[in-house]
Amino acid sequence: MAVTTVYKEPAPIVDRENPLESMMSRFNIAADILGLDEQTYNVLKAADKQVIVSIPVTMDDGKVQVFEGYRVVHNTILGPSKGGIRYDKNVHLDEVKALAAWMTWKCAVVDIPYGGAKGGIICDPTTMSPGEIERMTRAYTLAMKDVFGPDRDIPAPDMGTGPREMAWLMDEFSKTNGMTTPAVVTGKPLVMGGSLGRTEATGRGVMVSALAAMKKLGMDPTKATAAVQGFGNVGSWAAKLLSEQGVTIKAVSDVSGAYWNENGINVDEAIAYKNAHNGRLDGYTGAQLMDNADDLLLADVDVLVPAAVEDVITEHNADRIKAKLIVEGANGPTSASADSIINEKGIMVVPDILANSGGVTVSYFEWVQNKQGFKWTEQMVTERADRIMNDAFEKVYATSQKYNIPMRIAAYVVAIDKVAQTYKFRGAY
Ligand code: NAD
Repeated sequence: MAVTTVYKEPAPIVDRENPLESMMSRFNIAADILGLDEQTYNVLKAADKQVIVSIPVTMDDGKVQVFEGYRVVHNTILGPSKGGIRYDKNVHLDEVKALAAWMTWKCAVVDIPYGGAKGGIICDPTTMSPGEIERMTRAYTLAMKDVFGPDRDIPAPDMGTGPREMAWLMDEFSKTNGMTTPAVVTGKPLVMGGSLGRTEATGRGVMVSALAAMKKLGMDPTKATAAVQGFGNVGSWAAKLLSEQGVTIKAVSDVSGAYWNENGINVDEAIAYKNAHNGRLDGYTGAQLMDNADDLLLADVDVLVPAAVEDVITEHNADRIKAKLIVEGANGPTSASADSIINEKGIMVVPDILANSGGVTVSYFEWVQNKQGFKWTEQMVTERADRIMNDAFEKVYATSQKYNIPMRIAAYVVAIDKVAQTYKFRGAY
């Protein structure tokens, strides 16, 4: 049985910017632009709730191992909180807090009625058996039974978790709740209430926002070139859908390295190769292996899509980026210290909280369908998601023009303004 524990000093975040500080530095700039009053600022910068649990799990060797799990609910002013659960050995409370706040801003940017949350367990799922992961997931769910709820806090997959874990979470919550409750979690398998179009949703949103940005920049997609870092769910779908729009994908990468083809990579072929090779591009021969994978970020292309991990564009490489447009598929791929360099170079950035919000948008659709007890067609999902992405892009773009600010700060301005206005209407004690 899991128990709530006292706060433990977190392990230090090494070799990268603290994501919470990175988020706060952008939040502060946007708050200044909006002239946010001190009281509202103080309410919005703090997380509503931080729950830390110890999760004892009987491992396959019969020994009990205790894992530390988190759920941070940043804000619920706009609605129940929404956000993924990460299983990784580097999970850190500050990171979970930053990711929870990003979810608040992301949902507000795309105008869906959710607040923001994030969860995580410090563990290495790659060394754990399915049985151990299942027991850990169920114990975590039980420990969070008073936090989660279809109208309270709705988790979803993140790094290290997927439909399998969401199915266990839904089942465990349903048992404790005494009834099948599909709307408590999104990202479920299709057969048990998952939504059509969810798998490709984030990559599709990246494509839609990239096209919207290209239009503003007067860039013809059929003449444009792109490099995509990360070839997982987001990167591979973004690359595929961009190439279907006529964009030449000159480079893609994953943990095995970066691959370059001057004439354009056949993305469908690369995806088929990856699927046949344990999800990795090792040995892919449709392109040349680049000497240094990080050089993909500096490639001579029009559009750069970082869709892998945090903090890859930093003050150390930002001045050498050649792309005119960066569309952030990943969460937090650009460190705050790189923002000013990118802005000075005149590169347009479609920021993470806008560019990758197609995922949470279709998660929202999944929740709506579960609540309606009615399944939408794929066409309904994609048409509605594309409209939401385009509307959000236009709103952020108009805000960036109005205040003469970069798109990233404009996205924060749109989000914080919406949450702050709602807060004012709702009031405080
Ligand atoms: P994933 O695990 O499916 O894929 C990650 C990919 O990145 C893999 O191809 C991996 O090999 C590659 N990778 C890892 N480290 C790398 C490195 N240093 N250089 C190059 N490639 C590297 O993950 P995903 O779901 O595609 O998520 C990618 C990013 O997008 C994460 O930041 C995630 O938080 C964000 N995101 C995902 C979704 C979603 O719906 N999946 C939604 C919003 C944001």
